[in-house]
Amino acid sequence: GSTIGVLGGGQLGRMLALAGRAMGYRFATLDPTPDSPCGQVADQIVAPYHDAEAARKLAGMSDVITYEFENVDAGVAAMLMSESYVPQGSELLYTTQHRLREKRAIEAAGVKVAPYREIRSEDELREAVQAFGTPCVLKTATGGYDGKGQWVIRSEGEIGEAYETLSRAKTELVLEQFIRFEKEISVIAARSPRGEVRAFPAAENIHVDNILHLSIVPARAPAEVLEQAEQMAVRIAESLGAIGLLAVEMFLTRDGELFVNELAPRPHNSGHYTMDACRTSQFEQHVRAVCNLPLGPGELLTPVVMANLLGEHVAPLLEWMGDEAGLPEGVAAKVHLYGKHEAKAKRKMGHVNLLTDDVNKAIAWVEQSPIWKS
Ligand code: ATP
Ligand code: MG
Ligand code: MG
Repeated sequence: GSTIGVLGGGQLGRMLALAGRAMGYRFATLDPTPDSPCGQVADQIVAPYHDAEAARKLAGMSDVITYEFENVDAGVAAMLMSESYVPQGSELLYTTQHRLREKRAIEAAGVKVAPYREIRSEDELREAVQAFGTPCVLKTATGGYDGKGQWVIRSEGEIGEAYETLSRAKTELVLEQFIRFEKEISVIAARSPRGEVRAFPAAENIHVDNILHLSIVPARAPAEVLEQAEQMAVRIAESLGAIGLLAVEMFLTRDGELFVNELAPRPHNSGHYTMDACRTSQFEQHVRAVCNLPLGPGELLTPVVMANLLGEHVAPLLEWMGDEAGLPEGVAAKVHLYGKHEAKAKRKMGHVNLLTDDVNKAIAWVEQSPIWKS
């Protein structure tokens, strides 16, 4: 069988390897942490991501190389491309590593993003805040995640502090107009080298403290809006010439307008529902895409609510699993844990897919459950 090399050893790599192993592939992963979630289920190379020697070793072991995070060093990506087969290329990474490049690429696909401006000085920021009005959102162009690297500017009095704080990241800054969205949704599209494209059903996402808490599918929004969202994701994937998965995060306003927030060229937390609720999971789809196999049908088999398990949720979850009592009629739970050793607060440790006949019933159960109380 062929070996798929994965840059990054986190839970996304682990679930990718578990899906791909079921399809007969072997996996190797490069990650600085020994016994990483992916390293537990693959051959592991323990080294920093930018270690050229280690990357060359991964290339030597692999027939195909992919990645599970987008901040892959450009030099490492180039080296991997010369030593192995990297179907996703480096351009998709280059684009999605930088918010300004990403926004321009989305606009080039004919899709709307929140109005934004590149910010090169505090004066420019002041000017842009006046133009957009408050609140507005200042973001670092690179490196941000889980809301880190951004500042919601609520009054002009915060401009100096916001600029000073985010400037320390030594990257460009971008100011975005604040979108008073009604819902956040995401669509994960997959595209293969032969040009086949498919989108998974749109998920409605609820965040707590900037970390994904729930993904709800079908999203509770008009069918034509969801269809439009799915078409937008397909259009972006095609326009970028993306290979593999491309996750598209969007804002939906009260008048049914959609703005793309950001992209991720990899499996996405909001796609974990596909593992138990779709004919093909996002991970299997990614393997199919990077191996240039025909894509699988993404259709939804059942309504589903995915609830993330953070460090503080693990102990009450394990206690609940002792009897798994108290699930409402028509709701079934599938628990996934990532094999992380330390259940630190706010750390993503696993997720639960609640297969249900009514998403509201599953949401209500999560809301009253002691697991997510802490
Ligand atoms: P992720 O962990 O998803 O990569 P991130 O740190 O890259 O997060 P964003 O997704 O850009 O950050 O923003 C985090 C959250 O902040 C969004 O999900 C949304 O709730 C809010 N947000 C970001 N930009 C805007 C905006 N322009 N208007 C309103 N809310 C916003
Ligand atoms: Mg992001
Ligand atoms: Mg985001």
